[in-house]
Amino acid sequence: MTVVELDGVTKSYPGGVIALNDVSLAIEHGELVAIVGPSGSGKSTMLHLIGTLDRPSDGTVRIEDLDVARLSDRQLSALRANRIGFVFQQFHLTAGQSAVDNVADGLLYTGVPLAQRRIRAEEALVRVGLGMRLDHKPHELSGGERQRVAIARAVVGEPALVLADEPTGNLDTASGAGVMALLKELNASGTTVLVITHDREIAASLPRQVSMRDGAVV
Ligand code: ADP
Ligand code: MG
Repeated sequence: MTVVELDGVTKSYPGGVIALNDVSLAIEHGELVAIVGPSGSGKSTMLHLIGTLDRPSDGTVRIEDLDVARLSDRQLSALRANRIGFVFQQFHLTAGQSAVDNVADGLLYTGVPLAQRRIRAEEALVRVGLGMRLDHKPHELSGGERQRVAIARAVVGEPALVLADEPTGNLDTASGAGVMALLKELNASGTTVLVITHDREIAASLPRQVSMRDGAVV
């Protein structure tokens, strides 16, 4: 099954920047893909469109065979909440909130009751090796641990697709390797994973690389 299909996708911003120019790309179920390219080449823009956080100016984005443009806002929110997990370079954890509550927030829009959200959050934290950090707040965690909390939040709803934008960009080599190992494990268990990375070694360690330049896949 094709999980992601971009067909002639263009994204332009007001002021005339063409961030993506006629991109076509298919990602199959179970793939682990590195997206590489210089700064400004359109990597994050493409990931945002795949994550349905933004809409294309032209062309078609399909996620699991659904044409995103044909979905209502409500259906889009449901797609994001149930099928897609996001991981960002800056972690985007809520300050002052425990690891468990940060991860439980990953189930906020799924209709799962709070007590159940917490139980599943604990299980997800155990899976990423943070079973002994459940009540720690972001400022009480190392960068690598924060990113593992963010990964737990991304996967607590068992999404089909995980999108990671420079997940190791703020980490030292060892913590970055830990984060990549987790993403690889996740992929081995059946999740389709897309990772934007600047790191050539990381990109080379993944089974498929998509290279971007000036808003195009090259
Ligand atoms: P990358 O992630 O590869 O560094 P981006 O997708 O963030 O690249 O950006 C691609 C191009 O689009 C850049 O030239 C950037 O300046 C521009 N761009 C990104 N977001 C916006 C925006 N919200 N408004 C205007 N231009 C943008
Ligand atoms: Mg970027």
